[in-house]
Amino acid sequence: MIRATRSRSLWLRLTVLATLAITVTVAVATAVLVATLVSSVRSNVTTTLNTYAESVAHSAVDGRWPTPLPPAPGDPGMWAQVVDSSGRVLAATQNVAGRPAMYMLTAGSTSPKPSPTLVGHGDEQVVAQRYVAGSTPVVVYAGGPTRLLSILTSDIRGHLLYTVPLVLLGAIGISWLLIGRTLRPVEHMRAEAAEITGSGLHRRIPEPDSDDEIGRLARTLNTMLGRLEDSAARQRRFVADASHELRTPVTAIRTTLEVGLAHPDQAPWPELATRATAEAARLQRLVDALLVLARADDDTLIGRREPVDLGRLARTVVDAAPARLPVEIDALPGIKVLGDADQLTRLIRNLLDNADSHADSWVRLTVAEAEPDTVVLEVADDGPGIAPADQERVFDRFVRVQAARDRKSGATAGTGLGLSIARDIVTAHGGTITVDDTHPRDENRSGAKFTVRLPIAGR
Ligand code: ADP
Repeated sequence: MIRATRSRSLWLRLTVLATLAITVTVAVATAVLVATLVSSVRSNVTTTLNTYAESVAHSAVDGRWPTPLPPAPGDPGMWAQVVDSSGRVLAATQNVAGRPAMYMLTAGSTSPKPSPTLVGHGDEQVVAQRYVAGSTPVVVYAGGPTRLLSILTSDIRGHLLYTVPLVLLGAIGISWLLIGRTLRPVEHMRAEAAEITGSGLHRRIPEPDSDDEIGRLARTLNTMLGRLEDSAARQRRFVADASHELRTPVTAIRTTLEVGLAHPDQAPWPELATRATAEAARLQRLVDALLVLARADDDTLIGRREPVDLGRLARTVVDAAPARLPVEIDALPGIKVLGDADQLTRLIRNLLDNADSHADSWVRLTVAEAEPDTVVLEVADDGPGIAPADQERVFDRFVRVQAARDRKSGATAGTGLGLSIARDIVTAHGGTITVDDTHPRDENRSGAKFTVRLPIAGR
C-alpha cells in the first residue's frame, strides 16, 4: 500500500504525512488541555472544601458543636463530620447525620483514608483539618462528590467526539487543497518538459513567480536547457562545417578521376594520380583533426598523464621534422609539466608548422619558467601576423584568416582546425593560449607570437 502510494503521487503522500502530523498534534494538544482542565477543577474543589472545613471548625462555640453542622453554601451535596481522637462523630451535617466516621486520618498524615465501614459513597473528594475545640482535639472532614469533574470529563468527551474528527477532516481537506496548489507548477513543468525533444530545445518550462525551491528548480532547468540548446547548435554547426570541408577534397578526387576516365588512353595518369594523392592527404589531415576534436569534446583527449620536460620535448619536435626555415631555440631543460607527451608534441608541431608557413625569415621557440609556478612556451615569427580583431577567433573551429602572404593553398591549404586543436590540448592541461604581435610597439614590423602557459608539474 505504501509502495503504491509512493509510486502514484507525491500529492497523496504529502497529504497522508500532513494528516499524520496534524492528528498527532491534535491528540497531544487535546490530552494536555484535558489534563490541565481536570487538575485546575480538582484544585478548585479542594480550595472550596478547605474553606468549608474551616468555616465548620469556627462554628464551635465553647467546645460545643451546632447540630446539625451548617451546610455548605450553594452546594447541598457537600457534607462535614467532626470526629474526635477515638473515632466518635461529635457533629455532622444533615445529609450524613447518624453515620459513623466515614474517613480517618493516620498520625502525621494530612490525606484522609476511607474508613472500613464506608460503603457506596461513590467518587468523592475529601479534605481533613485538625483542630482543638475547647480542650478536645478533633478532625474536621469535609467532602463532596466529584460531580463537577465527571460532568466536565463527560462534557469534554462528548465535544471531542464530534469536534476532533471534524477538525481533522477539515485539516485533511485544507492540506489536500494547499499541497495540490503548491504542486501544480511542478505538474505544469513536468508536462512541458515531457514535450521538449531534441529539436525543441528552444522551448522553456514555465517558471513560477516564487523564489522557493520549485521556482529555483524551474530556473535551473531552464538554464540547463539553454546550455543544451547552445551545445546542440554548436554541434550542428560543427557537423555542417566538417561536411563542407570534407566535400572539397572528395569532389576534387572524384573530378580528377572522372577526367582521366573520360579519355583513359590519353589521360596524363601520373599527373592525375599525384593530384588525387595530394587531395587524399588533405582529406586524411582533415579526418585526423576531426578525430582529435571529437576526443577533446569527449574529454578523452589526454591519455596518460606523466611528467614531460617541455624544453627537451620542444627540441625533439624541432629536430624531428624538416622545416622551410631553421628554428631558433631557447629552451631550458628540466621544466616539467604533467601531461600527455603525444598531445603536447601535437601542440608544438601545430604552432611551429603555422609559424614556418607564415614567417618571412625566422621562427623562434622559447621555453622558460614564469611566476607563479608556470612554464611559458612561445612560438614567434616575422610573418604578417594576425590582426587584433582576429586574434581571438583564430582559435575557433574552421576559422582561417586570409593572410596576404599565405603559403598554404589548394591541396596544401590548412584545415582551419590546427589552432582550435592547440587550444583544446592546452585547456585539457589546465593552461591558456593567446596570440599577440611579435613586435607590439613597432608599427613597421609584424609577426605572430603564440604564448602557451601551463602549470609546472608537482608544485
Ligand atoms: P590552418 O590549418 O588553416 O593553419 P589554424 O587553425 O592552424 O588553421 O590557423 C587558423 C588561421 O590562423 C590560419 O588560417 C592563419 O591564417 C592564421 N595563423 C595561424 N598561425 C599564424 C601565424 N603564425 N602567422 C599568421 N597567421 C597565422
